[in-house]
Amino acid sequence: MENVIIIGGGPAGYTAAIYTARSLLKPLVFTGETPGGQITLTNDLENYPGFPEGISGIEFFQKVDQQAKKFGARIENKFVTAVDLSSQPFKVSVGKNEYESRALIVATGSSPRKLEIPGEKEFTGKGVSFCATCDGFFFREKHVAVIGGGNSALDEGLYLTRFASKVSIIHRRNQLRADQILQDRARRNGKIEFILDTVVEEILGSDTVDGLRMKNVQTGKTENLPIDGVFVFIGYIPNSQIFDGQLEMTDAGYIKANSRMHTSVEGVFVAGDIHDELYRQVSTSCGSGTIAAIEAEKFVAEMEGRAYPGK
Ligand SMILES: Cc1cc2nc3c(=O)[nH]c(=O)nc-3n(C[C@H](O)[C@H](O)[C@H](O)COP(=O)(O)OP(=O)(O)OC[C@H]3O[C@@H](n4cnc5c(N)ncnc54)[C@H](O)[C@@H]3O)c2cc1C
Repeated sequence: MENVIIIGGGPAGYTAAIYTARSLLKPLVFTGETPGGQITLTNDLENYPGFPEGISGIEFFQKVDQQAKKFGARIENKFVTAVDLSSQPFKVSVGKNEYESRALIVATGSSPRKLEIPGEKEFTGKGVSFCATCDGFFFREKHVAVIGGGNSALDEGLYLTRFASKVSIIHRRNQLRADQILQDRARRNGKIEFILDTVVEEILGSDTVDGLRMKNVQTGKTENLPIDGVFVFIGYIPNSQIFDGQLEMTDAGYIKANSRMHTSVEGVFVAGDIHDELYRQVSTSCGSGTIAAIEAEKFVAEMEGRAYPGK
């Protein structure tokens, strides 16, 4: 019987692991297929406090991994295939193996929706980005493309005009989906151009991105656009499928929680992007990972009839 199982090995899961390990709960962490989480996709993490020179996503992950293990967290690079939250203890399945735990911290993150076109995977972190707040700074005085026509595409496109010399927003329809106020703001911005009725078929480059091939869906005409970077904002997919029907979720599939990261099931806590539709940052994920861990510690203490500071 485990005290706490943490599902997810991104910044939220690792922060929860460090806290619960330091409380001697010996957490068991399942990291899934991406130990370190989304941040391992970026070369430079420059907005997390404490690293004035920046740090690569991989190096950041290696440090938190070392830190969590130092305090006794057990990290397993396994993918959780099912959970049963209907009664205590909770059951967590990894294929045929079943684990039992008193408390559960869900930190499975979300994945940016992909274009699924040639060049996208090869150039992720080398000119292809899914996060303007994170990577916009690297495109000062460059020409970038933003793919998408919703609020996040326009929001992030507007943000990118702070750095880029030109932002081409490419959308597959001839009408944008974004709120009118954002559309007006974008149309008034001299750095933004719209390329509508257009799909991107391939991202081009050698070491880094240097262009893209796009097709007008009305005329069928194909042309190459020289470009220094591509930002893809066609939505996020929360990794919440294994909790379907067991935890309350938003319509978009994000797990609902109160401000103390309690989900709809007592003893199950949530942290990071899987709950956060808005901010999606390392610092915010670490913040909610901290809260979830402290609440899980309180929960386990209560089950054992132990006092917990501040309770
Ligand atoms: C390219 C890129 C660059 C970014 N740059 C920055 C930046 O510079 N600064 C910044 O603050 N933020 C940045 N972000 C955002 C940041 O990475 C995320 O906000 C953060 O990683 C979210 O952390 P998380 O722990 O909630 O989830 P994630 O990082 O998404 O981690 C989720 C974890 O859950 C695991 N998982 C999922 N399902 C299962 C399962 N069934 N079983 C077991 N494990 C599972 C995954 O394998 C992964 O380990 C960037 C994002 C991207 C994509």
